[in-house]
Amino acid sequence: MPPNDHDAALDRIEITVADITTLAVDAIVNAANESLLGGGGVDGAIHRAAGPRLLEHNRSLGGCPTGLAKASPAFDLEARGIRHIIHTVGPIWGDAHDDEAMSLGNTPSDVLLASCYTRSLELARDVGAASVAFPAISTGVYRFPKERAAKIAFGHVLGWLTQADLPQRVTFCCFADADAQVYKQVIESRGQWMFNRKRA
Ligand code: ADP
Repeated sequence: MPPNDHDAALDRIEITVADITTLAVDAIVNAANESLLGGGGVDGAIHRAAGPRLLEHNRSLGGCPTGLAKASPAFDLEARGIRHIIHTVGPIWGDAHDDEAMSLGNTPSDVLLASCYTRSLELARDVGAASVAFPAISTGVYRFPKERAAKIAFGHVLGWLTQADLPQRVTFCCFADADAQVYKQVIESRGQWMFNRKRA
């Protein structure tokens, strides 16, 4: 793909409202915690759907620092066509003085959340996943502001897709209609910006 081909990259992104464990994709991303041993929210749903072998496997991974990612097999989810789970650990909003840093530009949590997306995409490429679905990392119990998170997610995924052939498709999997609206608004405002820029 030629660099900076934003339109083609945009066509490879979709937004859906679903339980991420039900999607027909090669890899799903899990918003895990540093232990990688399961938790609530999307993490709990993925562990329940993948079965106890996931917990057993993840014990051997030795945890994962915030902002990084590790891959595992999908275990029971393989029956649904999902081959890989990419576990990434999002930042807890406020943990790193984010509110104080907001007036300065990117906060520490912004940088860590961006890293979650980039590291997950790197792993998806490395395992050969043609399609990958992301939940809205850190926007649940970890309290990251939703619109701010969607801008970071979209910006970094789009940037990746303009430069890389894999994954071919990226799905932003929202758990509620309202969350999908946030993504749609972010993408539409960005799309308008790209349109204006192209005409300039
Ligand atoms: P975090 O601790 O990173 O904030 P949460 O699981 O609490 O993770 O929430 C992250 C996002 O995942 C929230 O938007 C939440 O609504 C959503 N979510 C929860 N369960 C699922 C699921 N089964 N599939 C997709 N998204 C989910």
